[in-house]
Amino acid sequence: MSLPGIYLHIPFCTVKCPYCDFYSVAATQEAMEQYTDALCRMLRQLPEEFPGLTADTLYLGGGTPSLLGVKRLDRILEAASHSLHLSQDAEITLEANPGQMPPPFSDATISRETLGALRRSGFNRISFGLQSTDPSQLQFLGRRHSAAEGLQAAELAFAAGFEDINLDLMLGLQGQTEETISRSVQLCAQTPANHLSAYLLKVEENTRFYRQKVWERCPDEDRQAQLYLYAVAQMQQAGFIQYEISNFAKNSRISRHNFKYWDSIPYLGIGPAAHSFWNGKRFSIPRNWKAFAQAHTLAELMQPEGEGGDGEEYLMLRLRLTQGVQAAALAQRHPEISWEQLCRRAKPYEKAGLLRMDPNPGQGFVALTPSGFLVSNSLIAHLIG
Ligand code: SF4
Repeated sequence: MSLPGIYLHIPFCTVKCPYCDFYSVAATQEAMEQYTDALCRMLRQLPEEFPGLTADTLYLGGGTPSLLGVKRLDRILEAASHSLHLSQDAEITLEANPGQMPPPFSDATISRETLGALRRSGFNRISFGLQSTDPSQLQFLGRRHSAAEGLQAAELAFAAGFEDINLDLMLGLQGQTEETISRSVQLCAQTPANHLSAYLLKVEENTRFYRQKVWERCPDEDRQAQLYLYAVAQMQQAGFIQYEISNFAKNSRISRHNFKYWDSIPYLGIGPAAHSFWNGKRFSIPRNWKAFAQAHTLAELMQPEGEGGDGEEYLMLRLRLTQGVQAAALAQRHPEISWEQLCRRAKPYEKAGLLRMDPNPGQGFVALTPSGFLVSNSLIAHLIG
């Protein structure tokens, strides 16, 4: 069984993107300093709260973690390494936004120097929010970087010694066509990035896009499905092999941290709005960075959200992966679930091209196809019964 993963939420951005419902607030140097102090304090206390805690993945997501700047990130990594007994080969990921950061955050601009310093601090995987290479789509999304800056960020990261580089893309955007998707994928493939994440735009309540009803200007569900399947094929052709609904990697360099979420491996989420799966239970932390900064321990912030990790949840999460549910692993982790029954339920969907399967109870599997991923919610509900 893999070691746990640790997620640190960094809830600061320069400006709120109109589609985003992640928890983030407007950055100030003072708030980021206060938050970094609190995060380091909490990290240093972890060995007392969670004796024997070790991890082999650490993921700084947000928000815009790169906005903290090298010095603060260095402090956080030092506190984490001190407390977590990170394994030698630990994957340490930083999410970053390309492009020039406005004053007073100019120091956090992704450049050869900042990337070199981050690599020396110990980060070894970096994920850039590129979203698109089409100028009108970047404008639609309210992004403040150009396509060239996003692509160049991957080049600079590689030159700084990052071998694992992700670029985020968004699908289902206003004005998006097969041609613009193909161009984005081709341009990404020409960089040293070895991982792409491609998410369909989902208009969430409490976003500017929701208030603007942008779905009226975006591709409808059927067209979104066409664009998704087209993007999957393009990425595969470019050597980015799909391993999850929205994730694609070259040379099997998958996100080891995110894989834990889909394989029901325990993880601790630290920071406002972060979630945890720990000792078979799920927890969340309130979306309030000031309350987080004032707390003394992580445990006092972790609000129980009920049991987790049962057989149904295992099936639901594993079916997001292209390798799907494997008979041997299911028998070992959830012997209460009948493999034969799962295969019986899956059979009609295999004929419809929505899943692939091998009913062999030793080495068999049930896995959704890209078409199956498009209807995964209802399909998985049927498979679970
Ligand atoms: S999409 Fe990223 S950069 Fe934009 S507001 Fe959300 S977290 Fe911040």
